[in-house]
Formats: sequence, C-alpha cells, structure tokens
Amino acid sequence: PNSKQGDGKPRLLLMGQRRSGKSSISSVVFHKMPPSETLYLETTTRITKDQMHSFMDFQVWDFPGHLDYFDPAFDVDNIFGEIGALVWVIDAQDEYLDAINRLNTTILNLQQHYPSINVEVFVHKVDGLSEDYKSDTFRDIIQRVQDELSDNGYENAPVSFYQTSIYDHSIFEAFSKVIQKLIPQLPTLESLLNSLCSTCRIEKAYLFDVLSKIYIATDTSPTDIGSYEICSDYIDVIVDISEIYGWDRSNPDAQKTGDSSAQDVSGDSGNDDAESLITMEKKGSNYLYLREINKYLALICIMSEDSPTEKKALVDYNVSIFQEALQKVFQR
Ligand code: GDP
Repeated sequence: PNSKQGDGKPRLLLMGQRRSGKSSISSVVFHKMPPSETLYLETTTRITKDQMHSFMDFQVWDFPGHLDYFDPAFDVDNIFGEIGALVWVIDAQDEYLDAINRLNTTILNLQQHYPSINVEVFVHKVDGLSEDYKSDTFRDIIQRVQDELSDNGYENAPVSFYQTSIYDHSIFEAFSKVIQKLIPQLPTLESLLNSLCSTCRIEKAYLFDVLSKIYIATDTSPTDIGSYEICSDYIDVIVDISEIYGWDRSNPDAQKTGDSSAQDVSGDSGNDDAESLITMEKKGSNYLYLREINKYLALICIMSEDSPTEKKALVDYNVSIFQEALQKVFQR
C-alpha cells in the first residue's frame, strides 16, 4: 500500500520550511555527511529526489519551503500517491507558528485524499535548547497540531512527533521508528528477534540497515537510546573492516534488486564467496555480537556474559537459524 510502483519499497517524503534542516537531515542520515558540514549546505530551492541504495529505497524528496504544492497546477497525485510517510520538519529554534499552520493545512488536505499516509513530525534542532525549553516547545507544538485537527473534527489522526537533532543519534532513532511502520513484516521480525534473545539470553538485538544506521527491527524488550548508540558506533567500526573483507556494497548492479534481500544473499554482486562477517567483542561490561545477514542488513546483539567463548557457538547456531527464517520472510 505504500508504493504504487509495485516494488514494495517504502517511500518517504521530507517537507518543511526553508532552513528547517531538510537537506542537512538527508545528507547526514543518507549520505554520511558529518553534521558540522551542513553549515555550508545550500538551502533547498527546488524539489530534489534522492535515491537511496539500501535495504529499502528511501526516496527523500526535499521540498522548498515556499512552494504551494496544493496548487491545482501541481501534480499532487504524482507526489502523494506513492508515499508511505510524510516527514515534516519544524525548526524548534525558530518561530514555528507559520510552520504549524502549513503543517495543519497539509494534514487536513492529505486526510481527504490520502488518509493512509503517516505524518511524522520532526521537532528539529533541539540540540540548542535547554531541557525545560525543549520539552515545553515539544508539548506546545503537539498541542497546537492536535487542537487544530480536532477543531476540524479530525480525531486520532495518524500523526506522530519526535524530537530530533543531527548532532546526536536522535535523528537516526526517529527515522528507525518511521521506517518500521512501513515494513509489513515487522511483527514477524520482532518475534524472530524475541525468540533469538530468549534462546541465547541476549539482552537486546537490533537488525540494522548498515549504510544508513537505521534499525529496521528490534526485539520487543524496552529500548534505550544508549544501547542503540553502542550498536551504531560499533557499525562504524565494522563498516570500515567489511569494506576490506565483506560484502561489496558499492556495486550499483547489485543494488537494483532491492525488493528481496533474500535474493541478495545468493548475490549478483560478483562477491558470492565473501564470508559474512561475524565478530564478538567486549564493550565495557557487555559483549557485542555482530553478524552480517546480507549486503544491507546486520544483526547486532548486546549480551552481558562471563564466559562468552562457550556461548559463541550457541549464538552462532541460533543466528544461522534466524538468518534462514529471515530469508523466508522476505521471499514471501
Ligand atoms: P533546508 O532549507 O530545510 O534544506 O535546511 P538546511 O538543511 O539547509 O539547514 C539549514 C541550517 O540548519 C544549516 O545551517 C544547518 O547546519 C542547520 N541545522 C540542520 N539541522 C540541525 C540540527 O539538528 N541542529 C542545529 N543546531 N542546526 C541544524
């Protein structure tokens, strides 16, 4: 339902006013730009379509803030007909009343014609704000949107709110939650991860899209940003190593077949013989276990264990079973 192209890939649209941070977000999350370099980005003055080669094809359409996209001359269906989620960026360090008015108008317009689109509001640039001001602003924005919608008789709108910044992990965490809503297999992935965790006494397991560091699923035990951060930092280390030893992620031909990651395991990358990387390492009082599942996905587990070497065989075995199950899930 999220894609009329029939490729089953979730598509995202990134919108918001000029200077709200749209280009920065897509550069940092999808193109590995260091946050401080976004200071020199040109502000967006046109619609840009950004193809993302990853487990899924994210399409980040970066809209200029002033554009009137509900103008009849605009091909609205072309824009909204194919997306699963609209990410709306609000600059929390700036005057935001205009932004909220535009957001409300957009939600009410969308509701009539495209009620299945999730609206995901990023209250952005919260890094510069004090804790008090941050939570007041967040609450104020939620209130203003909800009031306006219920004044218009629109209750229970599919609108969610996140506090984000490109200077910490919050932008990745928010995108993870946005993407997960667009993955129909999510409940199956979660229960596979749950059973892996309980069999091997793993504390937390994440299935990461390696390139974007977005996690597409985790087990259903409580998540904290700390464990996400540990795993995300570990991926940075591993990506460096796997560029030498692991899957060839740079081959453009291999990335055309994105609909089935299972297909990619057999691989058309010309790199079929590559062993998937498996590592286990001590990190503070924990052990981190990482295994590449295919070209795009890696499983990372956090364990606290006294004698991890004995356990590694057990984990290896169960992760293999998990990997097979995962292939079946995506083949269907
Ligand atoms: P766009 O016009 O919506 O594409 O906005 P830009 O991406 O050009 O961002 C405008 C400015 O906001 C740039 O100077 C960015 O460095 C800055 N910016 C973007 N995200 C953040 C953030 O999370 N925190 C802070 N403090 N500044 C940000």
